[in-house]
Amino acid sequence: MQLVLPPDHTQSSFDAALRAFAGVVGTEWVLATDQDRDTYLDHYGFDQAAHVAAAAVAPSSTEEVRAVVRLANEHRIPLWPISRGKNFGYGSAAPVVSGSVVLDLSRMKKIWLDVDNGTVLVEPGVGFYDLFDYVEKNDIPYWISPIGNSWGSVAGNALDRGVGYTPYGDHSDRVCGLEVVLPDGDLVRTGMGAMSDSESWTLHPYGFGPHWDQMFMQSNFGIVTKLGLWLMPKPETIISLDMELDQKEDLGWAINTLAPMRRSGLIQQSPSIGNWLRAAAVLTKRTDWYTGPGAIPEEVISAIRQRFGLGWWSINLRLYGPEEITSATANVVQSTFASRTQYPMKRGLWREGMPREQQPFAGIPITFPLANAGWHGGRGAHVGFSPALPQNGDKALAQFQRTFARYNEFGMDYHGSFALGERHITNVNQVLYNKDDKQMVAQVDRFFRALVDDAKALRYGEYRAHITYMDLIAESYDFNAGALWRLNDKLKVALDPNGILAPGKSGIWGNSPRRGGAA
Ligand code: ADP
Repeated sequence: MQLVLPPDHTQSSFDAALRAFAGVVGTEWVLATDQDRDTYLDHYGFDQAAHVAAAAVAPSSTEEVRAVVRLANEHRIPLWPISRGKNFGYGSAAPVVSGSVVLDLSRMKKIWLDVDNGTVLVEPGVGFYDLFDYVEKNDIPYWISPIGNSWGSVAGNALDRGVGYTPYGDHSDRVCGLEVVLPDGDLVRTGMGAMSDSESWTLHPYGFGPHWDQMFMQSNFGIVTKLGLWLMPKPETIISLDMELDQKEDLGWAINTLAPMRRSGLIQQSPSIGNWLRAAAVLTKRTDWYTGPGAIPEEVISAIRQRFGLGWWSINLRLYGPEEITSATANVVQSTFASRTQYPMKRGLWREGMPREQQPFAGIPITFPLANAGWHGGRGAHVGFSPALPQNGDKALAQFQRTFARYNEFGMDYHGSFALGERHITNVNQVLYNKDDKQMVAQVDRFFRALVDDAKALRYGEYRAHITYMDLIAESYDFNAGALWRLNDKLKVALDPNGILAPGKSGIWGNSPRRGGAA
């Protein structure tokens, strides 16, 4: 990708900044060729040219990060921090504002473990596979909470409020203590970390005074250089309960059946109800089934479902703990479902010592869900549309029907799931597309905006956004004419008067003019 200079820079002022960065990290870690820039594109983006990094700088330590930040202030270079940059569907490694310099933290890969308390402190470059290997190699009695794309980093995922499959799957909620480089280069530790050498940094989240951890998530207020995280004690057993639901309308009662058990804490993991395409898209390609125009018709859907033994929806639920407890809980869950449906529930048992299911439910990192991007063939991709809804079956069903109608209207194949948090539902929809199909790509933006408009009309907001849509989503959080964004901007201006850190991230611009990614 050809160079796009940082805003208000000339080639020579930009070169001077790169030389200054090289003085800190070494010339080999200033990455500024066309090929380097390609590396940091949003490979799942439908308009990659709208979000192009001018270069990347890859420090190896917190002190180097601080030095780079100070230089970025001096040279007025916007930095876009990434941990491993695998945030596919939300922007990958690419910045909101073209010409930003990616601050690539993937070389920082240290892990510190508190084995007695089951916590780790990780640097940003630690990926899910790294942490898994570390835990396995050291035979530690804890499991990690992996994600569907375990290629990504533990820290980056938690900072973008990513979710996993185990009872520890609400990752940002399991964060305990951060080390953060502020936009002026100052270094802060949150919670108990604010007391030098405290043993409780990764144990007690709050410390004394305000609790700042969430302030550094989905924000541009600081660069996280260490992140404390709780690990799940290795369970003695897992019971799996899987059910296939035949009809679209089954979604409503299924949610109403699960929700009280989730609220009461009987079910501790976040069960997810996903449609047939979630499984089919990782196993086959669309052309194996259908080559006609428009969304896949119902009779073809039936054939796909039959081949793989799938319902229109599938529920995957897991219970963790001592067998007396998981087995009694499974009985309650099964009898609750039995009072509402004839559909069979498949029950499986894993006991310590047995081979583990090669699934993130069992703490095993995976990447195979990425295969769904190949559904349409060509250079596949997807973008995520993920509103948060109340935990109510009728409302979830109505949301599905509206969204499904939109998919049909735009000739797209519905790919959606409803994951039950403790009090809410996250409705993750993936818009799968082929970047080589110009007609399809032209549809994606209009389609996405229609989905956002529909959700907004019902006052449902997205929990996470692609870099192109950050302003659009931020604007939908509109109480008192966007008071939350006025607060965010005030903080941004106070912390980052030169606007050097990730301008535009989550719709927070502070002093920076809005460029790129604007709604
Ligand atoms: P992953 O490594 O899991 O793929 P990314 O590096 O793509 O995650 O980051 C996900 C999001 O979180 C991006 O928007 C990125 O800007 C932000 N982010 C990642 N790492 C940091 C960090 N160390 N400090 C602040 N923000 C970060």
